[in-house]
Amino acid sequence: MGMNRLFTRLVIPMLLLMLYVPQAVAQKKGKEKPFTVVIDPGHGGVDPGALGRKSKEKDINMNVSKLLASMIDDKYPEVKVIFTRTTDVKIPLVQRADIANKANADLFISIHSNASKSKTANGCETFTLGAGSSVEAKAAAMYENEVILSENNFEEIYKGFDPRSSESYIIFELIRNHDMELSAEIAQMVQVGMVKESKLTNRGVSSAGFLVLHRTVMPSILVELGFITNSKDENLIASKEGQKKLAKGIFEGFSKYYEIYGQKKEKSNDKPVVKTNESKTNTAVPQKEVSKDKPVFKLQIFASSSKLAPGDKRFKGEKAQYYTENGVYKYTIGESNSYEEIQQIKKNLSEKFKEAFVVAFLNGKKINTQEAVKISQKQK
Ligand SMILES: [Zn+2]
Repeated sequence: MGMNRLFTRLVIPMLLLMLYVPQAVAQKKGKEKPFTVVIDPGHGGVDPGALGRKSKEKDINMNVSKLLASMIDDKYPEVKVIFTRTTDVKIPLVQRADIANKANADLFISIHSNASKSKTANGCETFTLGAGSSVEAKAAAMYENEVILSENNFEEIYKGFDPRSSESYIIFELIRNHDMELSAEIAQMVQVGMVKESKLTNRGVSSAGFLVLHRTVMPSILVELGFITNSKDENLIASKEGQKKLAKGIFEGFSKYYEIYGQKKEKSNDKPVVKTNESKTNTAVPQKEVSKDKPVFKLQIFASSSKLAPGDKRFKGEKAQYYTENGVYKYTIGESNSYEEIQQIKKNLSEKFKEAFVVAFLNGKKINTQEAVKISQKQK
């Protein structure tokens, strides 16, 4: 092979390769979907939402939503923020969820303000989708769902769901996918932030049958900023200063979540390491042998970005285990091959761990809880 031919046959392709490979990688990286959050300012247009003495819910929701978006944009310009509405228009609930689904969003945050017949009811609260953890939570969901009554063709679109009938809410008793866990985590983070910044009464995190959350297919929460019907709450949530505080609180929760789940951590995926936390305290939870080739159910009580000491007071005297997922320590209590048994444990511990939920493992790997229930029913 002469020098010239060697050059054309080997060197040129090599040079081309050197030129093209980094470019190809760069291109691929650029195409990666950005972390996308959909912000949903509740109500709008002819639907003002709840009314206070001097303010309308729709305006408060919008102001806080916009503040939140600009805070996200400032600190995390790489995050894509999508609004369900940016102007004063009425948008059907189903369309709000569709916007998030079509955008393949990573997170959905619906922002509302609460209302009550009782003028003394007050405080901020964050909801995830669920059966309804209290009478008040159910009432809040019913109230927010009623907006569909004024939507065109609502019977057909929502398949006969009557927002005023408690029987309709049975559909929310069904277990949903793993997004529920992430929803519970972001809800907790947002609630902590809001309380810290606004100093409003902490009504905690609850679950209830919010239609808008039911329709979305990603981690989703609904925030109730405060009670527009309570004069003290209204003074805060209708003021510029108060809205800034609330947006900052929600943003702090978002940041915490985004720092953990936003940047893709591929390393620790899929292989949850299950370890028992040594604890001297005895517990009411029965400790039985479980067979690992059948689905194992556990009660997840909370997650932490750092590993906790065995006697940490957050375990409230219970013996906890943990597994890691995406670099996060997730603490669980109890383990059983019986879903019913773990539900009973959940009930027994509902005072101590209000936001606990059931997770499932098979052969040491985490699986979808609903799937696990199906498998264990077949095995019976
Ligand atoms: Zn509302």
